[in-house]
Amino acid sequence: MNTSKEFIWLFDYDLTLYTSEERYVLDSLDKRITEYVQKTLNENFENASRIRKEYLAEYGTTLAGLRICHGVLPDDFFDFIHVPEYLIYPPFSKERKAILESLPGKKIVFTNGRADWCEAGLLSMKIDSLFDAVFDLKAMDWEGKPASSAYEKMESFLKNLNMNVCSKNIVFLDDACRNLQEAKAKGWTTVLVAPNLKDEFADYSISSILDLPQILPSIL
Ligand SMILES: [Mg+2]
Repeated sequence: MNTSKEFIWLFDYDLTLYTSEERYVLDSLDKRITEYVQKTLNENFENASRIRKEYLAEYGTTLAGLRICHGVLPDDFFDFIHVPEYLIYPPFSKERKAILESLPGKKIVFTNGRADWCEAGLLSMKIDSLFDAVFDLKAMDWEGKPASSAYEKMESFLKNLNMNVCSKNIVFLDDACRNLQEAKAKGWTTVLVAPNLKDEFADYSISSILDLPQILPSIL
């Protein structure tokens, strides 16, 4: 292991920092998104749920579809869906915390959500102090992954950290295959974090963040 090398770990938040077994966390948010669609488009819950999924598939996020098709303002959307009393946050896990603590270098969240959702989650998992920054959709001017502009803005942000890190030592972890290609094109090390999935743009594939120790010796 070469410990003199500097590393930057870029973690997606949803279903990456918490596992697919904790999907109920995302389900609580999805229910709230459906309710936003229901209220904004004046649809019943069933239709709103279908529209939410269609926008997600077609535009990458439900918000992107709502913006393009209905001119929804991102902060109006997030202010409605991020009300804590309707949401479930991931629990503390000793194992998760220990794994994150063992990583050398800076850790940054790179999420298509708004920071308040994942900051509340990091706090709930008691790992907030381990992260150096949260780079959220607002920081990407509401144009999230996999748009190339999102990765360019992330790179500019990293340059301002004044770290002498080669691209290979930027490790990008995400549960969505569609987000890997652009990261790979930038020369970053890519890790797909999802059960039973493989992708041509993934340097490594693990089922969950709890399996990170399996590939760590090879990355370092
Ligand atoms: Mg995700």
